[in-house]
Amino acid sequence: MIRVDLGQEEIPTYWYNIVSDLPDLPPPIHPATKEPLGPGDFYPLFPKECVNQEFSKEKYIKIPEELREFYVRIGRPTPLYRARRLEEYLRTPAKIYYKREDVTPTGSHKLNTALVQAFCAAKEGLEYLTTETGAGQWGSALSYATSMMGLRALVFMVRISYQQKPYRKLVMKLYGADIVPSPSDRTEIGRKYLEQDPNHPGSLGIAISEAIETAMKDEKAKYSLGSVLNHVLLHQTVIGLEAKKQMEIVGEKPDVLIGCVGGGSNFAGLTFPFIEEMLSGREEYKVIAVEPRASPSLTEGEYRYDFGDSAGVTPLIKMFTLGHDFVPPPIHAGGLRYHGAAPTVSLLKSKGVIKSIAYPQEDVFEAGRIFAMTEGLIPAPETTHAVKAAIDEALKAKEEGREKVILFNFSGHGLLDLKGYEDVLGL
Ligand SMILES: *Cc1c(COP(=O)(O)O)cnc(C)c1O
Repeated sequence: MIRVDLGQEEIPTYWYNIVSDLPDLPPPIHPATKEPLGPGDFYPLFPKECVNQEFSKEKYIKIPEELREFYVRIGRPTPLYRARRLEEYLRTPAKIYYKREDVTPTGSHKLNTALVQAFCAAKEGLEYLTTETGAGQWGSALSYATSMMGLRALVFMVRISYQQKPYRKLVMKLYGADIVPSPSDRTEIGRKYLEQDPNHPGSLGIAISEAIETAMKDEKAKYSLGSVLNHVLLHQTVIGLEAKKQMEIVGEKPDVLIGCVGGGSNFAGLTFPFIEEMLSGREEYKVIAVEPRASPSLTEGEYRYDFGDSAGVTPLIKMFTLGHDFVPPPIHAGGLRYHGAAPTVSLLKSKGVIKSIAYPQEDVFEAGRIFAMTEGLIPAPETTHAVKAAIDEALKAKEEGREKVILFNFSGHGLLDLKGYEDVLGL
Protein backbone atom coordinates (compact mmCIF):
# COMPACT_ATOMS: atom_id res chain seq x y z
CA MET A 1 0.00 0.00 0.00
CA ILE A 2 1.63 3.30 -1.00
CA ARG A 3 -1.18 5.57 0.20
CA VAL A 4 -3.53 5.23 3.18
CA ASP A 5 -6.67 7.36 3.41
CA LEU A 6 -9.19 7.76 6.22
CA GLY A 7 -12.83 8.76 5.78
CA GLN A 8 -14.06 12.22 6.81
CA GLU A 9 -15.83 10.74 9.82
CA GLU A 10 -12.44 9.59 11.10
CA ILE A 11 -11.13 13.10 11.73
CA PRO A 12 -10.25 13.04 15.43
CA THR A 13 -12.98 14.23 17.81
CA TYR A 14 -10.46 15.37 20.44
CA TRP A 15 -6.92 16.73 20.71
CA TYR A 16 -4.33 14.97 22.90
CA ASN A 17 -2.99 17.26 25.65
CA ILE A 18 0.51 16.07 26.58
CA VAL A 19 0.65 18.58 29.47
CA SER A 20 -1.63 16.19 31.40
CA ASP A 21 1.16 13.59 31.22
CA LEU A 22 3.97 16.02 32.13
CA PRO A 23 3.19 17.06 35.72
CA ASP A 24 6.71 18.49 36.12
CA LEU A 25 6.38 20.94 33.20
CA PRO A 26 7.83 24.25 34.50
CA PRO A 27 5.21 27.05 34.33
CA PRO A 28 5.74 30.40 32.59
CA ILE A 29 7.00 32.97 35.11
CA HIS A 30 6.98 36.75 35.48
CA PRO A 31 10.33 38.27 34.40
CA ALA A 32 10.59 40.57 37.44
CA THR A 33 8.92 38.69 40.31
CA LYS A 34 9.73 35.16 39.01
CA GLU A 35 6.23 34.13 40.22
CA PRO A 36 4.39 31.50 38.14
CA LEU A 37 1.77 32.97 35.82
CA GLY A 38 -1.79 31.74 35.39
CA PRO A 39 -4.60 32.05 32.82
CA GLY A 40 -5.59 35.53 34.07
CA ASP A 41 -2.18 36.88 33.03
CA PHE A 42 -2.74 35.75 29.45
CA TYR A 43 -6.39 36.73 28.85
CA PRO A 44 -5.44 40.26 27.66
CA LEU A 45 -3.14 38.77 25.01
CA PHE A 46 -4.71 35.61 23.51
CA PRO A 47 -8.31 34.56 22.80
CA LYS A 48 -9.76 33.35 26.08
CA GLU A 49 -10.55 29.80 25.01
CA CYS A 50 -6.97 29.35 23.78
CA VAL A 51 -5.66 30.48 27.18
CA ASN A 52 -7.92 27.94 28.90
CA GLN A 53 -6.50 25.21 26.66
CA GLU A 54 -2.97 26.46 27.37
CA PHE A 55 -3.41 25.74 31.08
CA SER A 56 -5.72 22.72 30.82
CA LYS A 57 -4.75 19.51 32.61
CA GLU A 58 -7.40 17.45 30.78
CA LYS A 59 -5.88 14.61 28.80
CA TYR A 60 -8.31 14.88 25.89
CA ILE A 61 -9.88 18.15 24.75
CA LYS A 62 -12.96 18.00 22.54
CA ILE A 63 -12.75 19.44 19.02
CA PRO A 64 -15.90 21.54 18.36
CA GLU A 65 -18.11 20.00 15.65
CA GLU A 66 -18.02 23.22 13.54
CA LEU A 67 -14.25 23.08 13.53
CA ARG A 68 -14.21 19.49 12.29
CA GLU A 69 -16.08 20.79 9.24
CA PHE A 70 -13.30 23.32 8.63
CA TYR A 71 -10.81 20.47 8.98
CA VAL A 72 -12.68 18.65 6.20
CA ARG A 73 -12.47 21.80 4.07
CA ILE A 74 -8.65 21.94 4.35
CA GLY A 75 -8.23 18.30 3.37
CA ARG A 76 -8.28 16.39 6.65
CA PRO A 77 -7.80 13.55 7.24
CA THR A 78 -4.56 13.98 5.26
CA PRO A 79 -3.14 10.92 3.51
CA LEU A 80 -0.22 8.82 4.71
CA TYR A 81 2.23 7.79 1.97
CA ARG A 82 4.87 5.10 1.71
CA ALA A 83 8.09 6.41 0.11
CA ARG A 84 8.67 3.26 -1.93
CA ARG A 85 10.53 4.97 -4.77
CA LEU A 86 12.84 6.71 -2.27
CA GLU A 87 13.45 3.36 -0.53
CA GLU A 88 14.39 1.79 -3.89
CA TYR A 89 16.69 4.70 -4.70
CA LEU A 90 18.44 4.29 -1.34
CA ARG A 91 18.45 0.47 -1.67
CA THR A 92 17.42 0.28 1.95
CA PRO A 93 15.55 -2.49 3.76
CA ALA A 94 13.82 0.26 5.80
CA LYS A 95 10.21 1.21 5.14
CA ILE A 96 9.65 4.96 5.03
CA TYR A 97 6.22 6.51 5.62
CA TYR A 98 5.30 10.18 5.57
CA LYS A 99 2.25 12.15 6.63
CA ARG A 100 1.12 14.63 3.95
CA GLU A 101 0.53 17.97 5.70
CA ASP A 102 1.33 19.76 2.43
CA VAL A 103 -2.12 19.05 0.96
CA THR A 104 -3.90 21.94 2.74
CA PRO A 105 -4.87 25.17 0.88
CA THR A 106 -1.81 27.06 2.19
CA GLY A 107 0.52 24.10 1.83
CA SER A 108 1.48 23.25 5.40
CA HIS A 109 0.31 21.93 8.78
CA LYS A 110 -0.21 25.45 10.15
CA LEU A 111 -3.92 25.64 9.30
CA ASN A 112 -4.59 22.97 11.95
CA THR A 113 -4.12 25.60 14.65
CA ALA A 114 -4.81 28.83 12.70
CA LEU A 115 -8.42 27.73 12.22
CA VAL A 116 -8.88 27.03 15.92
CA GLN A 117 -7.37 30.33 17.02
CA ALA A 118 -9.47 32.37 14.56
CA PHE A 119 -12.56 30.38 15.57
CA CYS A 120 -12.02 31.26 19.25
CA ALA A 121 -11.31 34.92 18.40
CA ALA A 122 -14.51 35.23 16.35
CA LYS A 123 -16.58 33.67 19.15
CA GLU A 124 -15.17 36.28 21.50
CA GLY A 125 -16.24 39.16 19.21
CA LEU A 126 -12.74 40.36 18.30
CA GLU A 127 -12.14 42.24 15.02
CA TYR A 128 -8.64 41.16 14.13
CA LEU A 129 -5.65 39.05 15.11
CA THR A 130 -2.02 40.21 15.00
CA THR A 131 0.81 37.83 14.34
CA GLU A 132 4.33 37.33 13.02
CA THR A 133 5.47 35.22 10.12
CA GLY A 134 8.88 33.92 9.03
CA ALA A 135 8.74 32.16 5.69
CA GLY A 136 5.15 33.35 5.31
CA GLN A 137 3.60 29.95 5.98
CA TRP A 138 2.06 30.97 9.28
CA GLY A 139 0.94 34.35 7.94
CA SER A 140 -0.78 32.62 5.02
CA ALA A 141 -2.46 30.15 7.33
CA LEU A 142 -3.73 32.80 9.72
CA SER A 143 -4.90 34.98 6.81
CA TYR A 144 -6.89 32.04 5.40
CA ALA A 145 -8.33 31.23 8.83
CA THR A 146 -9.33 34.80 9.71
CA SER A 147 -11.02 35.23 6.34
CA MET A 148 -12.99 31.98 6.90
CA MET A 149 -14.13 33.24 10.32
CA GLY A 150 -14.98 36.79 9.16
CA LEU A 151 -12.00 38.49 10.85
CA ARG A 152 -8.90 40.32 9.66
CA ALA A 153 -5.21 39.53 10.16
CA LEU A 154 -2.34 41.99 10.69
CA VAL A 155 0.89 40.16 9.87
CA PHE A 156 4.42 41.30 10.78
CA MET A 157 6.64 39.51 8.29
CA VAL A 158 10.37 39.01 8.95
CA ARG A 159 12.02 41.44 6.52
CA ILE A 160 14.43 38.95 4.93
CA SER A 161 11.48 36.68 4.07
CA TYR A 162 9.41 39.66 2.92
CA GLN A 163 12.16 40.26 0.36
CA GLN A 164 12.79 36.60 -0.51
CA LYS A 165 9.17 35.39 -0.71
CA PRO A 166 7.03 37.81 -2.76
CA TYR A 167 4.43 35.12 -3.51
CA ARG A 168 3.62 34.45 0.14
CA LYS A 169 2.82 38.13 0.47
CA LEU A 170 0.37 37.84 -2.41
CA VAL A 171 -1.26 34.77 -0.87
CA MET A 172 -1.85 36.72 2.34
CA LYS A 173 -3.16 39.72 0.40
CA LEU A 174 -5.59 37.51 -1.51
CA TYR A 175 -6.95 36.34 1.85
CA GLY A 176 -7.42 39.99 2.82
CA ALA A 177 -4.57 40.41 5.33
CA ASP A 178 -2.50 43.54 6.09
CA ILE A 179 1.23 42.79 5.86
CA VAL A 180 4.08 44.82 7.35
CA PRO A 181 7.82 44.01 6.99
CA SER A 182 9.47 43.64 10.42
CA PRO A 183 11.23 45.44 12.03
CA SER A 184 8.76 48.21 11.13
CA ASP A 185 8.22 51.82 12.15
CA ARG A 186 4.71 50.96 13.42
CA THR A 187 5.86 49.92 16.89
CA GLU A 188 8.26 51.26 19.48
CA ILE A 189 10.23 48.03 19.42
CA GLY A 190 10.46 48.01 15.63
CA ARG A 191 11.70 51.59 15.55
CA LYS A 192 14.41 50.69 18.04
CA TYR A 193 15.80 47.93 15.78
CA LEU A 194 15.56 50.14 12.67
CA GLU A 195 17.65 52.81 14.39
CA GLN A 196 20.40 50.23 14.94
CA ASP A 197 20.25 49.06 11.33
CA PRO A 198 17.83 50.42 8.70
CA ASN A 199 18.27 47.17 6.72
CA HIS A 200 17.86 44.85 9.69
CA PRO A 201 17.00 41.34 8.30
CA GLY A 202 14.56 40.82 11.16
CA SER A 203 13.85 37.61 13.07
CA LEU A 204 10.81 35.74 14.31
CA GLY A 205 11.57 37.03 17.82
CA ILE A 206 11.45 40.69 16.75
CA ALA A 207 8.27 40.20 14.71
CA ILE A 208 6.63 38.53 17.74
CA SER A 209 7.48 41.58 19.87
CA GLU A 210 5.86 43.89 17.31
CA ALA A 211 2.70 41.82 16.99
CA ILE A 212 2.30 41.64 20.78
CA GLU A 213 2.84 45.37 21.23
CA THR A 214 0.14 46.10 18.64
CA ALA A 215 -2.40 43.68 20.14
CA MET A 216 -1.85 45.01 23.67
CA LYS A 217 -2.63 48.54 22.48
CA ASP A 218 -5.98 47.70 20.84
CA GLU A 219 -8.84 45.97 22.65
CA LYS A 220 -10.44 44.87 19.36
CA ALA A 221 -7.34 42.79 18.67
CA LYS A 222 -5.55 39.85 20.18
CA TYR A 223 -2.39 38.07 19.30
CA SER A 224 -1.93 34.71 17.68
CA LEU A 225 1.20 32.55 17.75
CA GLY A 226 1.91 29.82 15.19
CA SER A 227 4.04 27.53 17.36
CA VAL A 228 5.78 27.00 20.74
CA LEU A 229 2.78 27.32 23.09
CA ASN A 230 0.97 24.33 24.60
CA HIS A 231 -2.36 25.10 22.93
CA VAL A 232 -0.76 25.42 19.49
CA LEU A 233 0.98 22.06 19.81
CA LEU A 234 -2.28 20.62 21.18
CA HIS A 235 -4.16 21.58 17.99
CA GLN A 236 -1.52 19.90 15.85
CA THR A 237 -2.02 16.50 17.48
CA VAL A 238 -4.68 15.72 14.86
CA ILE A 239 -1.67 14.83 12.68
CA GLY A 240 -0.37 12.09 14.96
CA LEU A 241 -3.82 10.83 15.97
CA GLU A 242 -4.64 10.26 12.30
CA ALA A 243 -1.20 8.81 11.56
CA LYS A 244 -1.60 6.24 14.35
CA LYS A 245 -4.82 4.95 12.77
CA GLN A 246 -3.15 4.88 9.36
CA MET A 247 -0.15 2.92 10.65
CA GLU A 248 -2.59 0.46 12.21
CA ILE A 249 -4.26 0.04 8.82
CA VAL A 250 -0.94 -0.88 7.19
CA GLY A 251 -0.26 -3.09 10.20
CA GLU A 252 3.05 -1.47 10.95
CA LYS A 253 4.59 0.05 14.06
CA PRO A 254 7.12 2.85 13.54
CA ASP A 255 10.57 2.37 15.05
CA VAL A 256 11.63 5.92 14.29
CA LEU A 257 9.53 9.12 14.32
CA ILE A 258 10.90 12.30 12.73
CA GLY A 259 9.85 15.93 12.45
CA CYS A 260 11.63 19.22 11.76
CA VAL A 261 11.61 21.78 14.56
CA GLY A 262 11.26 25.53 14.39
CA GLY A 263 9.16 26.13 17.49
CA GLY A 264 8.16 22.46 17.58
CA SER A 265 4.52 22.37 16.50
CA ASN A 266 4.55 20.00 13.52
CA PHE A 267 7.06 17.75 15.28
CA ALA A 268 4.80 17.66 18.34
CA GLY A 269 1.72 17.18 16.17
CA LEU A 270 3.05 13.97 14.69
CA THR A 271 4.95 12.59 17.66
CA PHE A 272 3.03 13.49 20.86
CA PRO A 273 0.27 10.88 20.39
CA PHE A 274 3.04 8.26 20.03
CA ILE A 275 5.08 9.73 22.91
CA GLU A 276 1.97 9.31 25.07
CA GLU A 277 2.60 5.56 24.79
CA MET A 278 6.23 6.06 25.82
CA LEU A 279 5.32 8.17 28.85
CA SER A 280 2.90 5.48 30.03
CA GLY A 281 5.57 2.81 29.48
CA ARG A 282 3.69 0.91 26.78
CA GLU A 283 6.00 1.48 23.81
CA GLU A 284 9.51 2.57 22.88
CA TYR A 285 10.18 4.76 19.86
CA LYS A 286 13.24 6.61 18.64
CA VAL A 287 11.98 10.17 18.23
CA ILE A 288 14.17 12.67 16.37
CA ALA A 289 13.72 16.45 16.24
CA VAL A 290 15.59 17.93 13.28
CA GLU A 291 17.00 21.46 13.28
CA PRO A 292 19.06 23.68 10.99
CA ARG A 293 22.72 23.98 11.98
CA ALA A 294 22.20 27.78 11.78
CA SER A 295 19.63 27.74 14.62
CA PRO A 296 20.15 24.59 16.69
CA SER A 297 18.28 25.41 19.91
CA LEU A 298 17.60 21.81 21.07
CA THR A 299 20.95 20.50 19.88
CA GLU A 300 23.24 23.25 21.14
CA GLY A 301 21.13 25.57 23.29
CA GLU A 302 20.80 25.70 27.07
CA TYR A 303 17.73 24.49 29.00
CA ARG A 304 16.75 27.54 31.07
CA TYR A 305 14.17 30.30 31.47
CA ASP A 306 14.27 32.84 28.63
CA PHE A 307 12.00 35.28 26.83
CA GLY A 308 9.89 33.95 23.95
CA ASP A 309 10.60 37.05 21.86
CA SER A 310 13.68 39.16 21.12
CA ALA A 311 12.78 42.39 22.87
CA GLY A 312 11.87 40.67 26.13
CA VAL A 313 8.18 41.57 26.35
CA THR A 314 6.85 38.00 26.84
CA PRO A 315 6.84 36.04 30.09
CA LEU A 316 9.86 33.82 30.77
CA ILE A 317 9.43 30.26 29.61
CA LYS A 318 11.68 27.33 30.37
CA MET A 319 13.04 25.98 27.12
CA PHE A 320 16.14 25.07 25.17
CA THR A 321 17.34 28.45 23.93
CA LEU A 322 20.20 30.07 22.07
CA GLY A 323 19.41 33.31 23.92
CA HIS A 324 16.54 35.63 23.06
CA ASP A 325 18.92 38.11 21.40
CA PHE A 326 20.32 35.45 19.05
CA VAL A 327 19.62 36.47 15.44
CA PRO A 328 19.92 33.38 13.23
CA PRO A 329 21.68 33.71 9.88
CA PRO A 330 19.21 34.32 7.02
CA ILE A 331 18.81 30.70 5.87
CA HIS A 332 16.00 29.76 3.49
CA ALA A 333 14.12 27.66 6.03
CA GLY A 334 12.67 30.83 7.58
CA GLY A 335 10.18 28.83 9.65
CA LEU A 336 13.07 27.24 11.57
CA ARG A 337 14.80 30.52 12.48
CA TYR A 338 13.67 30.65 16.10
CA HIS A 339 15.96 31.00 19.13
CA GLY A 340 14.08 28.52 21.33
CA ALA A 341 11.83 25.47 21.25
CA ALA A 342 8.44 24.69 22.79
CA PRO A 343 8.51 24.10 26.59
CA THR A 344 6.96 20.63 26.23
CA VAL A 345 9.40 19.58 23.50
CA SER A 346 12.27 21.05 25.55
CA LEU A 347 11.24 19.11 28.67
CA LEU A 348 11.06 15.87 26.65
CA LYS A 349 14.55 16.57 25.31
CA SER A 350 15.93 17.25 28.79
CA LYS A 351 14.44 13.95 30.00
CA GLY A 352 16.02 12.07 27.10
CA VAL A 353 12.63 10.99 25.69
CA ILE A 354 13.47 12.61 22.34
CA LYS A 355 16.73 13.20 20.49
CA SER A 356 17.77 16.06 18.26
CA ILE A 357 20.10 16.56 15.32
CA ALA A 358 21.13 19.63 13.30
CA TYR A 359 21.98 19.71 9.57
CA PRO A 360 23.61 22.35 7.36
CA GLN A 361 21.50 23.98 4.65
CA GLU A 362 23.37 22.41 1.69
CA ASP A 363 22.68 18.87 2.94
CA VAL A 364 18.96 19.35 3.49
CA PHE A 365 18.32 20.95 0.10
CA GLU A 366 20.14 18.02 -1.54
CA ALA A 367 17.80 15.69 0.37
CA GLY A 368 14.88 17.78 -0.91
CA ARG A 369 16.11 17.33 -4.47
CA ILE A 370 16.37 13.56 -4.03
CA PHE A 371 12.83 13.50 -2.63
CA ALA A 372 11.51 15.49 -5.60
CA MET A 373 13.21 13.13 -8.06
CA THR A 374 11.95 9.97 -6.36
CA GLU A 375 8.63 10.75 -4.67
CA GLY A 376 7.67 13.62 -6.98
CA LEU A 377 7.00 16.13 -4.22
CA ILE A 378 9.06 19.28 -3.64
CA PRO A 379 9.44 19.70 0.13
CA ALA A 380 9.40 23.08 1.88
CA PRO A 381 12.92 24.12 2.98
CA GLU A 382 11.84 23.37 6.58
CA THR A 383 10.51 19.95 5.61
CA THR A 384 13.78 18.99 3.85
CA HIS A 385 15.30 18.72 7.34
CA ALA A 386 12.93 15.88 8.19
CA VAL A 387 13.51 14.30 4.78
CA LYS A 388 17.29 14.37 5.35
CA ALA A 389 16.95 12.68 8.74
CA ALA A 390 14.64 10.02 7.29
CA ILE A 391 17.18 9.32 4.54
CA ASP A 392 20.02 9.06 7.07
CA GLU A 393 18.00 6.66 9.25
CA ALA A 394 17.19 4.55 6.19
CA LEU A 395 20.87 4.41 5.24
CA LYS A 396 21.76 3.42 8.79
CA ALA A 397 19.21 0.60 8.56
CA LYS A 398 20.91 -0.52 5.36
CA GLU A 399 24.34 -0.63 7.06
CA GLU A 400 22.87 -2.59 9.96
CA GLY A 401 20.83 -4.77 7.61
CA ARG A 402 17.67 -4.04 9.62
CA GLU A 403 14.10 -3.64 8.40
CA LYS A 404 13.33 -0.45 10.32
CA VAL A 405 10.02 1.40 9.96
CA ILE A 406 10.45 5.17 9.69
CA LEU A 407 7.62 7.70 9.89
CA PHE A 408 8.20 11.37 9.27
CA ASN A 409 6.04 14.45 8.98
CA PHE A 410 5.94 16.03 5.54
CA SER A 411 5.11 19.42 7.03
CA GLY A 412 4.71 21.38 3.79
CA HIS A 413 5.51 21.77 0.09
CA GLY A 414 8.13 24.10 -1.34
CA LEU A 415 6.38 25.39 -4.45
CA LEU A 416 6.55 28.95 -3.15
CA ASP A 417 10.12 28.53 -1.88
CA LEU A 418 11.90 27.59 -5.10
CA LYS A 419 14.43 30.41 -4.75
CA GLY A 420 16.02 28.49 -1.87
CA TYR A 421 16.62 25.52 -4.16
CA GLU A 422 17.98 27.83 -6.86
CA ASP A 423 20.41 29.59 -4.51
CA VAL A 424 21.63 26.64 -2.48
CA LEU A 425 21.85 24.00 -5.22
CA GLY A 426 22.98 26.50 -7.88
CA LEU A 427 20.26 25.40 -10.30
C1 LIG B 1 6.39 26.75 10.09
C2 LIG B 1 6.86 25.53 9.49
C3 LIG B 1 7.70 24.65 10.18
C4 LIG B 1 8.29 24.96 11.53
O1 LIG B 1 7.40 25.27 12.55
P1 LIG B 1 7.06 24.24 13.72
O2 LIG B 1 6.22 24.99 14.65
O3 LIG B 1 8.35 23.81 14.32
O4 LIG B 1 6.34 23.12 13.07
C5 LIG B 1 8.04 23.46 9.57
N1 LIG B 1 7.60 23.15 8.34
C6 LIG B 1 6.80 23.97 7.63
C7 LIG B 1 6.37 23.58 6.26
C8 LIG B 1 6.40 25.18 8.18
O5 LIG B 1 5.61 25.99 7.48
